[in-house]
Amino acid sequence: MTSLAPIGMHSPLDDAMPVGATYERSSRAPLGAPALDTRKRADVVVVGAGFTGLSSALHLAEGGASVVVLEATETGAGGSGRAFGQVVPYNKHGESAILERFGAERGQRLIDLIASGPDLVYGLIAEHGIECEAVRTGLLFGAHTAANTAWLERRARFWQARGQGVEMLDREAAEKLTGTRYYPHMLLDRRGGTVNPLGYCRGLAAAAVASGAVLHEHSRAASLRKRDGGWTVETAGGAVEAEQVVIATDAYSDGLWPGLAKSLVPLRAYHLVSMPIEERFRSMVLPGRQSLTDTRRLYSGIRVRPDGALHLSCDGPAFRNDARAFREKISRRVADLFPALPEVVWQEEMAGWVGMTYDQYPHLHSLAPGVWAAIGLNGRGIAAGTLLGVQVAGRVLGRPEADLAYPVTPLAPVRVRPFTRALVGSLMNAYRIADAIELRGSYLREGR
Ligand SMILES: Cc1cc2nc3c(=O)[nH]c(=O)nc-3n(C[C@H](O)[C@H](O)[C@H](O)COP(=O)(O)OP(=O)(O)OC[C@H]3O[C@@H](n4cnc5c(N)ncnc54)[C@H](O)[C@@H]3O)c2cc1C
Repeated sequence: MTSLAPIGMHSPLDDAMPVGATYERSSRAPLGAPALDTRKRADVVVVGAGFTGLSSALHLAEGGASVVVLEATETGAGGSGRAFGQVVPYNKHGESAILERFGAERGQRLIDLIASGPDLVYGLIAEHGIECEAVRTGLLFGAHTAANTAWLERRARFWQARGQGVEMLDREAAEKLTGTRYYPHMLLDRRGGTVNPLGYCRGLAAAAVASGAVLHEHSRAASLRKRDGGWTVETAGGAVEAEQVVIATDAYSDGLWPGLAKSLVPLRAYHLVSMPIEERFRSMVLPGRQSLTDTRRLYSGIRVRPDGALHLSCDGPAFRNDARAFREKISRRVADLFPALPEVVWQEEMAGWVGMTYDQYPHLHSLAPGVWAAIGLNGRGIAAGTLLGVQVAGRVLGRPEADLAYPVTPLAPVRVRPFTRALVGSLMNAYRIADAIELRGSYLREGR
């Protein structure tokens, strides 16, 4: 038997900040699912109601399995309802790094799978009529150094050779599309877009329930016990007996399965929403309504909300539940990009935890016969978590290995755990310094 163990004073599950009001305003109502208060049987128990767990529940239910989803708090209250909103056709690694690690055939299948994420997300939104401010005008990536321009050019060539809508823009073309001359070069990837992640997550939950899955909120899976022919998952109020279990708890993983929480490092990520900018300035800022990030190491996302508010991803203290984002840094970023814009007034701050793995890949683990974990989205979970949910559902349903591109890996706890925070903290400081030095270099200014 395994039991619940707190993972320390910074446990992501004790989040001090509510899911954002900005997202609440344009999402369907909370599901209001009842807590589990009885004993039940199901084919599969899914632990965690974020993109990964809910996508697996939806696809399991559609595949004919009876499914119970247990959520410790509320649907989307983990990373899923707190994301910035970009639906990205990549993970953290470049295409050549994936091919090198997984080999030509498996690597290409994995790259294609990851790239299909936006089609999956926008397809589900259309199929289930999910209200989530879905926009698919593409994603922009600005290059902040010459080396990163070369890297983006390689990426563009890779996808162009495969007939995909990915192109490089020079400063003039980029300015026309975005209103900023800040970057000498940008990559435009027309496959991506943005959503209101809370709306998308609740919509996925509603779709899973409509397909037959049973959702219980405020029902933390406290223990997992092996029994003949399967597993018993216990909560404070009840229990579910099931043949298989899918754990989809990402950065919010607790002690439910030994070593699982230790296989990733939860990092705090932030974003800020401004008051709507004045009507007369709106056409100056990202008039094509793409979301823009750049190639620096830490947080650079900016997009415009439907009401004209600016929405920016933001750096801040990495390990505290009660901290605030570095607002001055983000105000400077707006001024650098759009110098003619009057100073923006911040309306709301949102934050949540991202689950970083040692190799920055999401992981699909077979923990024991019948127990799966799909975790480690590394801050890219809207498309990748939805995909991982499909992949784990396929494994549970016994689909042929050949149909499932996502590799199953052994659980590897981060070995340096006692020092991990110190190490990651130092690394983030080094990243901040490296970003600042590169941004002050001459590359961005030449020809501006
Ligand atoms: C500030 C921020 C910005 C981000 N921006 C983006 C972005 O722009 N694009 C993008 O693709 N991704 C982004 N991400 C990452 C993305 O949100 C996550 O990768 C994704 O939400 C992970 O989804 P998940 O379903 O795997 O886990 P989560 O959504 O974190 O869900 C895990 C759930 O498990 C529950 N849980 C934990 N333990 C138990 C238990 N014992 N019993 C029952 N339930 C339990 C938790 O309560 C939680 O609801 C961002 C994340 C943050 C925090």
